[in-house]
Parts: sequence; C-alpha cells; structure tokens
Amino acid sequence: MACVQEGAGAARTVGALLGEATGRLRRAGSETPRLDAELLLGHVLSVERTTILAHPEAPVGPEPAAAFAACLARRMRGEPIAYIRGLKEFYGLAFSVDGRALIPRPETERLVELAEQRVRGVLSGAPRPDGSEPFRIWDVGTGSGAICVALAVRLRRLGYGGSFQLFASERSRDALELAIENAVGHGVADAITFASGDLLQVPRFPGRVDLVVANPPYVPSDVVPTLPLAASFEPREALDGGPDGLDVVRRLLAGLPDVLLQGGAALIEIGSDQADAARAAAAQALPDWRSQVHADLAGRPRVLQVDAP
Ligand code: GLN
Repeated sequence: MACVQEGAGAARTVGALLGEATGRLRRAGSETPRLDAELLLGHVLSVERTTILAHPEAPVGPEPAAAFAACLARRMRGEPIAYIRGLKEFYGLAFSVDGRALIPRPETERLVELAEQRVRGVLSGAPRPDGSEPFRIWDVGTGSGAICVALAVRLRRLGYGGSFQLFASERSRDALELAIENAVGHGVADAITFASGDLLQVPRFPGRVDLVVANPPYVPSDVVPTLPLAASFEPREALDGGPDGLDVVRRLLAGLPDVLLQGGAALIEIGSDQADAARAAAAQALPDWRSQVHADLAGRPRVLQVDAP
C-alpha cells in the first residue's frame, strides 16, 4: 500500500500537528503550550476545542495547516491568543478583540457583577424618588466595550430593557470603534450611547448619572515593562497609570462630584495591591463620601466603590 505521510502536501493529522506545535510553543516559552495549540488549531479549522480533542486522527489539509503555522509563529513571538483568534470570552459572551484595546480580563467580571447587583437593587426596590427616570450608567474608558456590552446584555435578559440607559466613552477612537463593533455584534448598540472623550471630559453626554463604572489604566509605569510578554501587544495607555499606578484613578475621583447624581456611586477597578492607596486617594478627593474595596473571585482586592452623599 502506498505510503503518503512523507509526500509533499500530504495531509497531517490533528494529533501530529498538535504534538509538534506543543513542543515548539513550550520551547518558545509558553506556559500553556498544549492549550495554546488546541485553541489555535480549533481557530483555523473553525471548530470547538473539544472537537479537536475528540478527533486526533482527523486529517488537516495544507491550507489550514499553513494558517496554523502562521498562528503558531505569532504565538511564539508572544502575541496573546486572544488577539490571534480575535476573540475573548468575558461574562459568558464572546468579544471581538485586537490591538485597538485591552483584552478583557476575568477579574473585571467582578466589576460587572457589582454594577449589575447595584442596578438590580435599585430597579427592583422602591420606586425611585425621581419617578420613572431610567437608571443611568456611564462606562468611562470603555476600551473593547466589554463592561458596557456585558451589562447591557445582562440587564436586558433580566427584563430591565426600558429602565436603564448606558453611556460609554473612550479617548482612543480606535478602541471606541471596536466597542461599537462589539455592541453591534451583541445586539445592544441601541442600548448604549458612545462618545469619544478623555475620562469625564465628554461634552456630548447630557446630565448626571447614577453609576460610573471604569477599568482605568492602573499599572505603575515601571511595572508595565515587567508584565507578561503578551501585555506588550496591548495599548500601553490602557495599562500605564503613572508612577504609582493611580494617576488616572485620582483624576477620575476628582471629577465624580460633577457627574454623579445624589446617592450615586462609582465602581473603579484597581490593582490587587492598591486597596489602601486607592481608599486614601478617595478620602482625599472626596472627604464626605463613603468608600470600600471589593475583592475579586480570587479573593484579592479589585474594585474601589465610592458613594456620593
Ligand atoms: N489587570 C491588568 C493587568 O494586570 C491591568 C488592567 C488595567 O490596568 N486596567 O494586566
């Protein structure tokens, strides 16, 4: 019987490609070489990772094999899997991601969860003092749009469709485009008003809001170069928070009295070692306001909450 495995253009199997790619990725320094290989092969074959695992004997034609090799080369240079696949899961939703914005992190799901709880608490409680005004939420520096889109999808599913308004702003026009693409992709573009602007300087947004949510850059400048290689592919302005990491958080806190309604609140993501510094910044900028820090799912301090009097 003719033996084809060595012939030019002969189909390789899923198992063989995975084995070889895993070794190359490991040697290139990936900490999750097998998972990376499975995700990337699934990506070029347009199938779930579980399908890849179930069919190691399946042949892979020359075209997907070449596409796989190109993805591997990118990964071996340290590019995040999420950028190579153009996709990242966040809050149970698939977001488009690329170099225009930070890749959504699992710890930020805690921020969305806290925002969701706050909205539910208010909307399911006693009628609001101002009658039927929708609950207004502003996602400051929305990046890929992960926070506002996840909130919009979730609140709609919970049946709060007409009871909230979402605003999302972003200084980077490229990131803003990506956020809008994600809103359109998840069918909530009509629920979110987008505008470009630096932090709270967004003249297009009318009036005050009930809740500000933000995942600002908070990594200290001299820590940014020590982050995993993958982070070097992300926009530096989405990570670098100045000398102690809290420059942007302080600017944001200082502006809150001008944008929050009475009884409003802000939920701001911080680094796990910044709880004390963030509360001190809040006490200084907003002496009459209450502040607290919520832990993420891993038990690490992650979200600063400040409450307007
Ligand atoms: N959690 C991110 C990181 O450590 C930082 C995100 C941010 O600065 N907002 O890479």
